[in-house]
Amino acid sequence: MPESRDLIARHFHMDSGLLMFGGQTSIETIVATYGTPLFIYDAAVLNRKYELLQQTLPQNFAISYSVKANPSQAILKHFVQKGCGLEIASSGEFLQALQAGCASNAILFAGPGKTKAELELVLAKGIGEIHIESVLEVARIAAISQRLGVMANVAIRVNPTGEALGGAMRMGGQSTPFGIDEEELESVVAQVCSNPVLKFSGLHLFSGTQILDYSVLVSQYRKGLDIARRIVKKTGQPLRTLDFGGGWGIPYFGKEMELDTKKLKSGLEEVFSEVQNDPDFSGTQFMVEPGRYLVGEAGVYVTQITDVKVSRGKKFLIVDGGMHHHLAASGNFGQVIKKNFPVCLVNKIDQPMKETVDVVGPLCTPLDVLARGIQLPEAIVGDLVGVLQSGAYGRTASPLHFLSHCSPPEVLVEGGEAKLIRRRGTYEDLTRDCV
Ligand SMILES: *Cc1c(COP(=O)(O)O)cnc(C)c1O
Repeated sequence: MPESRDLIARHFHMDSGLLMFGGQTSIETIVATYGTPLFIYDAAVLNRKYELLQQTLPQNFAISYSVKANPSQAILKHFVQKGCGLEIASSGEFLQALQAGCASNAILFAGPGKTKAELELVLAKGIGEIHIESVLEVARIAAISQRLGVMANVAIRVNPTGEALGGAMRMGGQSTPFGIDEEELESVVAQVCSNPVLKFSGLHLFSGTQILDYSVLVSQYRKGLDIARRIVKKTGQPLRTLDFGGGWGIPYFGKEMELDTKKLKSGLEEVFSEVQNDPDFSGTQFMVEPGRYLVGEAGVYVTQITDVKVSRGKKFLIVDGGMHHHLAASGNFGQVIKKNFPVCLVNKIDQPMKETVDVVGPLCTPLDVLARGIQLPEAIVGDLVGVLQSGAYGRTASPLHFLSHCSPPEVLVEGGEAKLIRRRGTYEDLTRDCV
């Protein structure tokens, strides 16, 4: 794993061994107020990552934050207030985006299997763009638009041919439920353009998440421009939008390194300088829709040790949270073989590593392992175990109800204040929807 101490030095602070958020609020203070387990996010990290993203992209890129990475209202508001749009993939995300104050025309709706009810909702309320993921969706969107008497802005998500791939988790190049195969693209564009209630606004490419190799991103963006140019030659009109998707990664495991933003910046500058004065791209709004990159490093999941035991020579730290709150850290979300997230004792950061332990949660399943065989300082009941890099695909991607523990609260540290942004679940919540 990347060294926890290096990550803490990069994103947070330490004072007398305690993890400090926003430079001044200690983990002990936050835990004393809100209890454990909980997720804590640092607004200063959100800001730094957003600035770094902006500085790395060529000028004239619009940013849509991808809601599914972390849909908490305070997080959505944070990015909306910076001028970001939001990318959604369900009507539930749509309603949360509106509630966070996002203008409906700044919302992009992607994702396979959009139902009639979902399309009706977004078309009735207004939506920036719908990203078409199948041929059937063209007809479905058109029928609803006609009935409602509205025009739908549609972009087509492209499943590119294999050449430009190389990312960690592949979502393009092969057979996939996502997007229109590049080979079919021209015919689907023609269908959209010839439909009077659809407005063809552009193309959307997104073929992989957690990409840490800058050259993969550069070649994907180049490929996106090539596909766009081919379509523009056919339609005779520059695209209104060209969306390069999300996918920028953060380091979690082993020797993974941060995305090299210096090299990425110069690679993208080179690619986009070629199209700067190209009439094929005149007036085209370039876009990205990252999730993980913006929020992942800002979050820490903090649990407290409730028991320490040794079984046949192996030491276990049993904590009050686990895979039901943080499935990804348990290795059961997007991993084939469990690798450890960066984990440390956030109240003993300065102490020397003393022992090799497994950190496990309270669920009655051997899957509930937060970290296996890691080195930690000597730990006792009451110490705090923090899982770093937990701001994206954490709470939201977890089976919160499994084993009926209360869902964890979320706290955002901003301007020297630790604010509760989502309360802890209650036991009443567990039965609220039973009939
Ligand atoms: C999940 C998703 C994203 C965000 O992906 P990250 O890898 O978190 O940046 C962007 N766009 C679409 C369509 C997605 O489904």
